[in-house]
Amino acid sequence: MDLTRKIDVLDKGFVAITDVMGDDTLPARVARTSFNNVDRPRSVEADRKLVRYLLRHKHTTPLEFCQIRYYMKLPIFVARQIIRHRTASVNEISFRYVQASRDFYVPQESFMLTQSEINKQGSSEISVSDPAKCQEIITQISNQAFDAYERLVNEGLALERARIVLPVNTYTEWYWQIDLHNLLHFLRLRLDKHAQLEAREYAQAMLELIKPIFPTATENFQ
Ligand SMILES: Cc1cc2nc3c(=O)[nH]c(=O)nc-3n(C[C@H](O)[C@H](O)[C@H](O)COP(=O)(O)OP(=O)(O)OC[C@H]3O[C@@H](n4cnc5c(N)ncnc54)[C@H](O)[C@@H]3O)c2cc1C
Repeated sequence: MDLTRKIDVLDKGFVAITDVMGDDTLPARVARTSFNNVDRPRSVEADRKLVRYLLRHKHTTPLEFCQIRYYMKLPIFVARQIIRHRTASVNEISFRYVQASRDFYVPQESFMLTQSEINKQGSSEISVSDPAKCQEIITQISNQAFDAYERLVNEGLALERARIVLPVNTYTEWYWQIDLHNLLHFLRLRLDKHAQLEAREYAQAMLELIKPIFPTATENFQ
């Protein structure tokens, strides 16, 4: 697997782009089938202008001809949020086949924020009084869960059953493939300040990776 275009995310995760179909001008070329003049030579600027027009007027089908395949390592609780985006194709590592390694996420101190009073599902911008203690509690309980998991595996319990004690901060890995139209929709939702900070970090990495490939479609996200 080619992981050369990769951005590290959180303490042990990453997003890599492994394959891309299409480029910045493909939506314009696809859109021109409507006028049956696909083969007429155009300048890059003419293509970019048409892509902006398509985006502005929500003529989004030509964007669907661009496909982006990512490979990611992410905590299960972030994966649960991202999996809600049904237009992506996903294939995930299975802890029914593979024994989970002791790989869990511990938020950095700056993420140890109090409950927001305004946004009921989010964090405030105020740090808890003892972020290091929160890190210690998370590390301790995660290690205990992994101790229990490994004991169950050593007892001979099937991996599919032993895994039920794993915490939701356990790292998982998957291929995640989506077309450009639905990726922009995903980014609008998951880069929003209402989205969970960790999910936003993944969305930001996904955006950074496609910016050089699709500069016109992503220019509004700059
Ligand atoms: C900040 C935030 C908070 C959230 N909080 C919660 C929560 O508390 N609880 C919870 O359960 N979820 C929550 N979600 C998930 C949210 O409800 C959506 O499921 C998720 O954002 C995917 O959005 P989507 O359906 O537009 O995307 P996709 O699944 O990628 O679908 C893309 C588009 O395709 C179309 N589409 C896809 N499937 C269908 C369908 N079956 N019928 C009709 N049209 C379809 C729709 O136009 C849709 O917008 C939250 C999401 C965000 C961003």
